[in-house]
Amino acid sequence: MNGFAVCEQLKANPETQNIPVIFISALDDGINKVKGFQIGGNDYVTKPFLAEEVLARIRYQLSLQTLQRQLQQKNQMLIEQNQQLQQAQHETQFLLEATWAIEKSQSLEEAISTVLDVVCQNIAWDYGEGWLPNPANGVLEYVAQFNRFSHPALERFQEQSRLITFAFGQGLPGRIWQSQEPEWIEDCSSCSDSVYLRTQLAVEAGLKAAFGVPILAGDNLLAILVFYQTEASPCQNRILKLVQAVATQLSFPLQQAQLKQELQLANQELQRLANLDGLTQIANRRHFDHRLQQEWLRMQRLQLPLSLILCDVDYFKRYNDYYGHLVGDDCLVQVAQTLYESVKRAADLVARYGGEEFAIILPYTDIKGAVSVAERIRIGVLQQQIPHADSLISQVVTVSLGISSIIPTATDSPQFLLKLADDALYQAKKNGRNSYSVASATSA
Ligand code: GH3
Ligand code: MG
Ligand code: MG
Repeated sequence: MNGFAVCEQLKANPETQNIPVIFISALDDGINKVKGFQIGGNDYVTKPFLAEEVLARIRYQLSLQTLQRQLQQKNQMLIEQNQQLQQAQHETQFLLEATWAIEKSQSLEEAISTVLDVVCQNIAWDYGEGWLPNPANGVLEYVAQFNRFSHPALERFQEQSRLITFAFGQGLPGRIWQSQEPEWIEDCSSCSDSVYLRTQLAVEAGLKAAFGVPILAGDNLLAILVFYQTEASPCQNRILKLVQAVATQLSFPLQQAQLKQELQLANQELQRLANLDGLTQIANRRHFDHRLQQEWLRMQRLQLPLSLILCDVDYFKRYNDYYGHLVGDDCLVQVAQTLYESVKRAADLVARYGGEEFAIILPYTDIKGAVSVAERIRIGVLQQQIPHADSLISQVVTVSLGISSIIPTATDSPQFLLKLADDALYQAKKNGRNSYSVASATSA
């Protein structure tokens, strides 16, 4: 083999192609030098030669080589850094998008649904589900889903998601609940049913790779997000880390949404209690005042009659004195119950007006209607047959009722209606009790 052939072979082999080659030759015609450089030689020395010169040329080639290698390494580093930068940029964009979406959401369900959407778009996965723990029965319940494709089998899968619940440690969501760690399943359609509880449905829906991440507030599980892809895939740490970061972002707004919901419930309960009479469990005076004002305005707008009944227990002081206050209280509860059962319409309101007096608001009801309600009440109480040995008019508890009715006008007020009913009640007492009396605006 001549020098040229050796050089060609060295340059053809990737393992040796970077080794610098210096030709030393006796031939001194220009053509051979050119050929030497053409086939990849780095330098050309002609005989006779000085050893020092050759050594210097070798040193020069080696230092060139070292510099080149350093340059290559730097270049490689720059390429990698650029890739990392692009990835970080993409992830930041993704996190921002998810956070914005969460902040815009009106409810817990909407927040989770939006995040499922944003995540699926960003990691290019096909389907996602959200699961919430229900503290009342200790299981995970489906909240929201997002899908990029749809077909009947996937709809069956979703349908089952709405019905199924997962206990602690059960199935993919249940295991994540227990471990509080993300979990990846390479292909759930080839999992045993003990690992993935819905293998058959996943096969039919074409779902393969699956992973889930927990959304935690300290040790408290707020929700679990589960994602699916129609291709099987080994665990991708980058995706897991990314989605876990989004889940962490979700933690605070989710807690806020949860607190808001709890607060709303507590408020409703407080509102209910604030409007209820403690003894009789019907509406209290506060509630009555509020509703009377409301109905007054409503009937004024509609120009329809508003009726009011005041109902007072007869000789109740005597009842208390005879049977004692506790029995008196029981009696009031029973009377309230009878009143409550005597009104039929949803808009009617029975309230404890104070002491042993009750008030009934009857919107869009005229005198005739109000009288029939009053009579129903009077007879209803009578039929309760609550013994009243000390009554001056009967052996049982009786009531007297004052009725007023009016088509509200801007110049009158609810107080006017009340005053009329009170006058009528006074009249009923005067007439001998266990009766009703009517006062209408025209008769006043
Ligand atoms: P009338 O037939 O004229 O209405 O006679 P009355 O004794 O019912 O009327 P009065 O207003 O003189 O007495 C009302 C009594 O109702 C006074 C009080 O002893 C009793 N009372 C008021 N509130 C309660 C209550 O919450 N529990 C009990 N047990 N008694 C009450
Ligand atoms: Mg009274
Ligand atoms: Mg009384």
